[in-house]
Amino acid sequence: MISVETSNPRAILNQQREFFITGKTKDVDFRLTQLKTLKQLVIDNKADIIKALNADLHKPEFEAYATEIGVIKEINYAIKNILNWTKPQKATVPWDLFPYSAKIHPEPLGIVLIIGPWNYPFYLMIAPLVGAIASGNCAIIKPSELAPHTANLLSELISKYFLPEYITVAQGGVETSQKLLAEKFDHIFFTGGTAIAKIVMAAAAKHLTPVTLELGGKSPCIVDTEINLEQTIRRITWGKFINAGQTCIAPDYLLVNKKIKPDLVNGLKKCLQEFYGETPATSPDFARIISKKHFDRLANFLKCGEIIAGGETNPEELYIAPTLLDHISLADPIMEEEIFGPILPIIEYTDIDEAINLINSKPKPLALYLFSENKNLQQRILQTTSSGGVCINDTVMQVAVSSLPFGGVGDSGIGSYHGKAGFDTFSHYKSVLKNSFRLDINWRYAPYQGKLPLLKRLIGG
Ligand code: NAD
Repeated sequence: MISVETSNPRAILNQQREFFITGKTKDVDFRLTQLKTLKQLVIDNKADIIKALNADLHKPEFEAYATEIGVIKEINYAIKNILNWTKPQKATVPWDLFPYSAKIHPEPLGIVLIIGPWNYPFYLMIAPLVGAIASGNCAIIKPSELAPHTANLLSELISKYFLPEYITVAQGGVETSQKLLAEKFDHIFFTGGTAIAKIVMAAAAKHLTPVTLELGGKSPCIVDTEINLEQTIRRITWGKFINAGQTCIAPDYLLVNKKIKPDLVNGLKKCLQEFYGETPATSPDFARIISKKHFDRLANFLKCGEIIAGGETNPEELYIAPTLLDHISLADPIMEEEIFGPILPIIEYTDIDEAINLINSKPKPLALYLFSENKNLQQRILQTTSSGGVCINDTVMQVAVSSLPFGGVGDSGIGSYHGKAGFDTFSHYKSVLKNSFRLDINWRYAPYQGKLPLLKRLIGG
């Protein structure tokens, strides 16, 4: 198994630089072949990927397929569109600049570093890699040490399917990450928490390296009265408790119209039983918390408000039951940070302004959910709040649409990816202006005497 010598990332970086300079990665056929190889990597190794995800997170096979192996859709989208994306685009030139012509050429940035988290440890390494390959870069990817089975598998598979001077995995924790960050990359793509993102951005600033930061936050979920109650309940329950709530775009807390709250709460309780049975601890469809540290942090949140469903924990199994909390105070610790676990606080509002004000009093979230058929309310929420993305009458599904850029705003991130946005993230758009020798009007050359009136007319000022 070839793996990066993590004590000396510069060696592999230099190898990648030499490979990049050959220009091989710029060839569109090469990129297409590599995307197909990546797809094959996923297809050939589905069983091992599922096994690794189960070992790391007790991830159910269905969820592994839907949310991690599902990266195949992202690869297919890039394969289908790469010829279009890589074509230089014509830019318009004003008539008075005849006979210039202008084009915008996308070109790769060079060597990119992709650092990932543990919650979707396969998807969140491969999906950015799709953009990096499509735009013609070399890549070093650093998976999270907290999902070691997936990290080991990624390292093994990437070295089997790709040349290390093209794509390689650097395994390790904070130390590896910091050694990599000390080097000069052409782009750093980071998925993780806001605190570490600040460290990444500070390291990148030393080399003037551009960054994409895919972060998290407290994504609110507003529930109005004009809804299909049953569907709303199912969609919220699924989006919140998939992967045991360890999803960056999981609804973090509910903001529910007071009139519908009793029905919603009853429905959520029933739905939890329907999804995970009387004892979710024995359900094959419910994941576990990644580590003791995260378990302890979440267990502390159970002291907030009143538990109205769930609340059971088992530290040996890193199990926290899907839990609903009522009577939360806005000053409770659970409302101070991203929950990132299977605990759902339910907060009621009487007037929608209360909900909007609460959302706007917090850092901008990665996602915002609104359940309402009321078009005026939909418009109002879109206009008065800011978030990475919005999904109306559903949760989490926005991540599955490759034509929608995925990313945050403010504290929830910088930049975006998926589909064309991923290609753009790892590309530089080079402006190219071309003149010809057919004509050389001398209006701009000295001596300027007598030429100012014409210039003024052209500028229009
Ligand atoms: P994290 O920030 O703790 O770790 C992410 C990566 O950074 C890991 O590979 C880790 O090894 C590395 N790292 C940790 N400490 C470091 C340091 N001091 N210096 C350099 N590198 C360091 O995040 P996490 O706990 O793995 O993931 C959870 C967070 O990620 C949540 O906030 C979640 O919302 C966010 N997230 C965002 C998205 C998204 O697409 N926007 C997706 C998944 C998770």
